[in-house]
Amino acid sequence: MTPTRVLIDRSGLDALIATLAAQGYRVLGPTLGRDAIVLGDVAGTDDLPVGWTDEQEAGHYRLRRRDDAALFGYVLGPHSFKRFLYPPRQRLWSVSRGSGPDLEVRAEPHDDRPLAFLGVRPCEIAAMRIQERVLTGGEFPDPSYADRYGRAFVVAVQCTEPGGTCFCASMRTGPRAGTDCDLALTELLGPDRHDLLVEVRTPRGEQIVAGLPAREATDADVATANEALARAEASMGRSLDTEGIVELLERNIESPAWGKVADRCLACANCTSVCPTCFCTTVEDTTDLTGQHAERWRRWDSCFNRDFSFIAGSLIRHSTRSRYRQWMTHKLSAWHRQFGTSGCVGCGRCITWCPVGIDITHEVDSIRNHERSASTFHTVGGRYR
Ligand code: SF4
Ligand code: SF4
Repeated sequence: MTPTRVLIDRSGLDALIATLAAQGYRVLGPTLGRDAIVLGDVAGTDDLPVGWTDEQEAGHYRLRRRDDAALFGYVLGPHSFKRFLYPPRQRLWSVSRGSGPDLEVRAEPHDDRPLAFLGVRPCEIAAMRIQERVLTGGEFPDPSYADRYGRAFVVAVQCTEPGGTCFCASMRTGPRAGTDCDLALTELLGPDRHDLLVEVRTPRGEQIVAGLPAREATDADVATANEALARAEASMGRSLDTEGIVELLERNIESPAWGKVADRCLACANCTSVCPTCFCTTVEDTTDLTGQHAERWRRWDSCFNRDFSFIAGSLIRHSTRSRYRQWMTHKLSAWHRQFGTSGCVGCGRCITWCPVGIDITHEVDSIRNHERSASTFHTVGGRYR
């Protein structure tokens, strides 16, 4: 029986990646590209952004060199693993006209190769679980998501250095990984050590770890990891006050705060593109010039796009104010009613990648402050327009 917790070094992580690949997985993880940490194929630890970190603030992202060789010394880039489970563009089916009168309709086949996700942050794991509930929990489950997610092998990396826009602690999705992963790693980095504590969470994970060059972790190793995680939890870049948030947003549908944020919002849809839980899509049909072949494609769309609310001949959300309000109230309020969970995991990407630095945590505070000042105004007999 493999111990529940073991220590590996960088060569052990290389062995883990090689083992997953040998078992037929396509291994995907963080890589350096396009001046950011993006997700791509990983054949070994040389493909990871070794010795790099990311500096993040509202509307700000920069890569910086670290003074060590940390393997996971950065937080999150613009990509989430959603792009592999629920691709930005995906053919759903195609239809061809043969020589006879019949049409031949072909469903898009499922991928043969299962996916292995390396370096998944706990907030991302929570996002995958939320998307699973949204996309496969209803009357018409998405079979491709169910297939990809159901077969995926998940290697989490718990966060010991949260980023400037992270607020997973207040959303209760991090910095520790829960049970929705096969293995959970914690990087232990110091002047005289560089190890990865590996916690086995599933029998599948145990089977992979059994073949790795590893040594049993001591109680002191586990305590060191727990201290680092507690420090991370206490030093989040931001926090979001979720107290009564469902009712708060329902009560404040006409708050003046929506107009103020709309004055800054460009309706560019960056926030929805980077969000690991956003799931809005549209479908497009294409035909070849001969009319013999047609395809239906699904691609990511956004509630910030003007035409997204085009229903029965007209738009139902004309203004940026109504679109921002739709996005935020759905994430933080209506999602609870619809799916029994928040639609936000506190990854902070929408804050980092908003070109004008709009911050969802501040916008919730703004709604609260407006409500408080409006009720004060009423109690002194004023009129509020
Ligand atoms: S709303 Fe923002 S912070 Fe929340 S999950 Fe989406 S991108 Fe992350
Ligand atoms: S909140 Fe920011 S990222 Fe989102 S649509 Fe508005 S300007 Fe773009």
